[in-house]
Amino acid sequence: MGKYREQVFNVTLITVGTVLFVGALYCCGVGIDWKIFLILFAFAIILDNLGIMYTDIKLSLSPTIGMATFLIFGTVAAAMLMVSSVMFDTIVIRKKIKNGLLNGAMFSIAYLIPGWFYEFIGGKTGVISFSQVKYILSYVIMSFLLNNFILYYALKAQGKILFKEYWNESVLLELGTYIVMFPAAILLAYIYFKHSLIFFVLSLTPLIFIAYVFRMVRDLIKANKRLNAIYEMVKVINSKLELNQILDAIIEVISQVVSISAAAIYLVDSNGIAILAKSVSSKESKEVFKENYFKDEGIVGKCISLNKTIAIRDLKQDKRFSSEKFLNDYGSVMVAPLRFSGSVIGCLMILHVETNVFDDDSVKIVETIVDQASVAITNAKRYYEVSKKSITDPLTKTYNRRYFNDALTESIMRSDETSEPVSLIMFDLDNFKLINDTSGHLIGDEVLKEVALRIKNNVRSDDIVARFGGEEFAVILPKLTAEQAYMIAERIRNEVSSKPIKTSKGDIYVTISGGVADYPEKADSAEKLISHADRALYAGGKSKGRNRIAIYEV
Ligand code: GH3
Ligand code: MG
Ligand code: MG
Repeated sequence: MGKYREQVFNVTLITVGTVLFVGALYCCGVGIDWKIFLILFAFAIILDNLGIMYTDIKLSLSPTIGMATFLIFGTVAAAMLMVSSVMFDTIVIRKKIKNGLLNGAMFSIAYLIPGWFYEFIGGKTGVISFSQVKYILSYVIMSFLLNNFILYYALKAQGKILFKEYWNESVLLELGTYIVMFPAAILLAYIYFKHSLIFFVLSLTPLIFIAYVFRMVRDLIKANKRLNAIYEMVKVINSKLELNQILDAIIEVISQVVSISAAAIYLVDSNGIAILAKSVSSKESKEVFKENYFKDEGIVGKCISLNKTIAIRDLKQDKRFSSEKFLNDYGSVMVAPLRFSGSVIGCLMILHVETNVFDDDSVKIVETIVDQASVAITNAKRYYEVSKKSITDPLTKTYNRRYFNDALTESIMRSDETSEPVSLIMFDLDNFKLINDTSGHLIGDEVLKEVALRIKNNVRSDDIVARFGGEEFAVILPKLTAEQAYMIAERIRNEVSSKPIKTSKGDIYVTISGGVADYPEKADSAEKLISHADRALYAGGKSKGRNRIAIYEV
């Protein structure tokens, strides 16, 4: 739908622009000496290139040349000059063919119609007098309005988000440039009529100087704004404790300062492998990031081992990482290392579907942000370690009772939402007191550790193994019925009982008993689930001779 609207808009604009332009050339002729035209053309191009992009609007002093040309040589010459210079600038210098055609059409309309209107209401070209000022003013205002009107709808049709404040600000800024351009154009036309051509050309040069100063001031303001933005953003990143939120915030912040189509954050694990920790992509780009990179592998591995930002401006030309298939979908890529106290802890990858998006400025900004972000990431990882410590049992490295309670409540809530069952197995080692009594408490500990390991090795990664009490373990098994959980409990019982446990005082044989219940079939609350599994453990396991598993029977 959006694409269709954009196409209709583009075709209409280009058709109207071309018809007006060709028609004007055909019936009126250009009416300008080609030597002078070329000189003016060169100045217009220089001024265009000293212009500044303000979001999607380019501010430059080149309309001064357009206005002066209009006053000296008339409507068609001015349109010809502006259309050809803007098309040259966009197509030849900036290499954007479609935008070049659109800009050309826009300038054709914005310079021809006001010109003809000017002539229609009695304005004169080819001479200059004070009585003309009001006509010139109407020409300038009309041209300005037409230009911005078309631009506004062009951006809208392209689906570009028009931030109202930016738009207003940039239009006001452009209006500001007219305060310089309007008198300058009249002055230039006056000089042309009263003085020599050389003097006229010389009078054009101050415009370049003004544009240059204008640009410098803008750069300063921009640098200052960006610094402030970075400062604010780093505060946002650092205000978060949870790693996932921090990664989200980093990408959000980056997307505010540079234009991106997709982004990914990789974090290096203890084996030096970069693991995909977060990725986002916009609608037009596919999300096909590699899950992990080994040392030196691909663009991510290289960035990490070099500890340096890799920025590729044109992926169509630069084929260094062409073996990475997903890069074919993009035009530009930048990978910046995340560092903490000298070592690389990961990297940020940003991509854009278009080429030449990440310039030196963007590299610097991204590096500044990720340098700050790395601190937040490291803090979050530490926080995670600490909070993990508070939920695990130090001896068996299974979850502790506190975490078990939370996890069980949560599993039951999820079961209610999904209408899938959740099972609980309660295990208790048989005659464990005897092991303690004969081999000592420390050997008992070793046995507990090994049993915990065997339980963990025989359940899925979503299952939760917790130390419920001394030598009792509980396992939460989401999505399984009691019958299915029974099979797993049997497997565990077999794993524990059939193989001896190697301890520092030799092999020890131990058996285990278990009870199984499920929610909502055999228990209607977390408390009942625990007590029913426990009942099954004692009634069906322990009292029937131990080394057995039982399902709770009502
Ligand atoms: P049953 O088959 O009936 O369960 O017999 P049991 O001996 O295992 O029963 P009981 O519950 O009486 O004994 C549990 C023992 O587990 C008592 C306690 O000393 C021991 N125990 C609890 N926690 C630990 C621990 O962290 N380390 C060691 N080594 N022993 C523990
Ligand atoms: Mg026991
Ligand atoms: Mg016990």
